[in-house]
Amino acid sequence: MARVLDGRAVAARIREEVAGGVSELAARGVPVRLDVILAGEDPASVTYVSNKRRDCAEVGIESRLHAFPADVSQKELLALVERLNGDPEVSGFFIQLPLPGRMDPLPLLSAIDPSKDVDGLSPQSAGRLAVGLPCLLPCTPHGVIQLLGRCGVELEGREAVVVGRSNLVGKPLALLLLRENATVTVCHSRTRDLAEVTRRAEVLVVAAGRRGMIGAEHVREGAVVVDVGIHRTEDGGLTGDVRQEEVSGRASAMTPVPGGVGPMTRAMLLYNTLEAARLQAGLS
Ligand code: NDP
Repeated sequence: MARVLDGRAVAARIREEVAGGVSELAARGVPVRLDVILAGEDPASVTYVSNKRRDCAEVGIESRLHAFPADVSQKELLALVERLNGDPEVSGFFIQLPLPGRMDPLPLLSAIDPSKDVDGLSPQSAGRLAVGLPCLLPCTPHGVIQLLGRCGVELEGREAVVVGRSNLVGKPLALLLLRENATVTVCHSRTRDLAEVTRRAEVLVVAAGRRGMIGAEHVREGAVVVDVGIHRTEDGGLTGDVRQEEVSGRASAMTPVPGGVGPMTRAMLLYNTLEAARLQAGLS
């Protein structure tokens, strides 16, 4: 049976570290504050936002919600982004995605000051990551790297395969794995013979958003498997892109769903908010 890479436990440690960092800044008179922009009332988005704000409260980060009706204009949101960029009391902020209707998030993301971009999803942050400049890292890929590192999974020189090339997960993850000196292959929906490619992986990260698509036939004996996918099951539980029971017979270690990458993503938002506060205070 594969060793479980326990995202809940590692995330709890990161939250403790962040709480310590927040207290240190408070002692120097630097409050840490996260602002959240929410447009519309999509139930999943409302739940995500309230979870993130509860996480903030637990580590001593103040959070402020800027909620708008679904028919808010891009101009109005852009004005808020510019105000938050310039507000010295705001350590960092993010826009909960997806935006309602057909509103394009790109002009808004492009306007975020990279030093306050706690989601790490602006084109500026993505570009800085690509060329190796310091930046706030997107939470899910950074969470994967932190989880692997803190569980003692070596990346240097190893064959890593990422399934998925989204701007949110796959692409930044590939860059972060490269930064860790792994040899990286990225697969996507046009990849020919996916199993042939994924079987090369010593570290396989799956972020395709296809429930149960990865089985034992995709996994090299002894590989480390990270399952980023999240899907609601019929009985209200959660499952991933990997057929866990089947793969745990071949992998040496794997992340569970729930309790793997999800808690890490949430913890990395807090980590980034603290980092942003340090940047604003000139301490980083
Ligand atoms: P996207 O839908 O944006 O991207 C999916 C990627 O997977 C695309 O690049 C797509 O290829 C590729 N893909 C889809 N089907 C296949 C296939 N059959 N074979 C190979 N590649 C395929 O999803 P996200 O990146 O936003 O999210 C991926 C998953 O991760 C989702 O389940 C999401 O819910 C979950 N997630 C979990 C988080 C967490 O905290 N645990 C956070 C964020 C996301 P192509 O580009 O060719 O279309």
